[in-house]
Amino acid sequence: MGPGPSTVPARILQAISAPTLGHLDPQYIGYMDETCEMIRQVYRTKNALTFPVSGTGMAGMETILVNLLEPGDEAIVMINGVFGGRMKDNMERCGASVHAVEIPWGKSFTPDQFAEAVAAHPKAKMLGVVHAETSTGALQDLSGVGDLLHDAGMLFAVDAVTSLGGHDVRVDEWGIDAIYSGTQKCLSCPPGLSPVSFSDRAIETMEARSSKSRSWYLDVSMLKNYYTGGGGRAYHHTAPINMIYALREALAIVLEEGLDARIARHREMHGLLREGLEGLGLSYIPDHSLCTLNCVAVPDGIDEAAIRRRLLDEYDIEIGGGLGVFAGKAWRIGLMGESASKRNVTTLLAALKDCLP
Ligand code: PLP
Repeated sequence: MGPGPSTVPARILQAISAPTLGHLDPQYIGYMDETCEMIRQVYRTKNALTFPVSGTGMAGMETILVNLLEPGDEAIVMINGVFGGRMKDNMERCGASVHAVEIPWGKSFTPDQFAEAVAAHPKAKMLGVVHAETSTGALQDLSGVGDLLHDAGMLFAVDAVTSLGGHDVRVDEWGIDAIYSGTQKCLSCPPGLSPVSFSDRAIETMEARSSKSRSWYLDVSMLKNYYTGGGGRAYHHTAPINMIYALREALAIVLEEGLDARIARHREMHGLLREGLEGLGLSYIPDHSLCTLNCVAVPDGIDEAAIRRRLLDEYDIEIGGGLGVFAGKAWRIGLMGESASKRNVTTLLAALKDCLP
């Protein structure tokens, strides 16, 4: 019940142990195509260029940025926690001049703040924002942002690492041009892949680049042949075959449950946990809390690490500590995928009641 990885169901662990096929084996290519199609379904997109990047969520972030930004570009990044800060760092490493819009940690951006950022930096090529800020537990409403950016001729880039599979993520409806996630959070798969998706607008931008992407490994102009079959399935790098088996199984589990039912389960478990935590006198830090990551303030005078240690040693329960400015001041409790269960919520609440002074 930490900020990820979440509990991995046995079905996925079995899938990962299947015999390793070659990365151009027709049977494996079939599995990979099925995996890409299921990623489209969980992202609610028809984007042809949708695939799992070989690497964790940070590799997804880098894939988006290193392919869409070039030296000399301007970009806007909305920062309300650790991961918005990492987006800024990565944008700068791509050679872009970055305009950061920062608000206090735990807050979410208002539609006016997006509009002001766009008006202040009309030459920006892209705006990046984190949908689910794992460091603070804040949920960002993304509706309407895509239209605002497209009217200004900008691309919309989103981090959905802690939302995909637990919160609604509507890539086409929200006008998202580039998005990445991770396998180890609400998809309940081991860490190691980052599902990404690019809109046609993003593809046009990549095709119009005047310089090569600064990363060879993450260069989508080469990767797309392998993942979409366009121009033949050429070898680029050896795909992480067994991780694809795992992700395929994880996505099948998500779709068997049903996306809407899964999102409703996360909401229900969050409600139950919140009621219990507040009943114990704990308060939530963010104004708009995620269901998948519950960030509460540690009461004054409590050794937060000692409580986490007792939960682990005596109850086999892992929760997260605070990150960045919340280090030592917050607990982060994940309700992600398989871990978002009534059994987990009631056990944690009982254990916490025992551990709190
Ligand atoms: N973005 C967010 C919002 C995250 O929570 C994380 C990881 O926790 C990442 C990006 C980076 O993902 P990874 O650790 O899988 O590389």
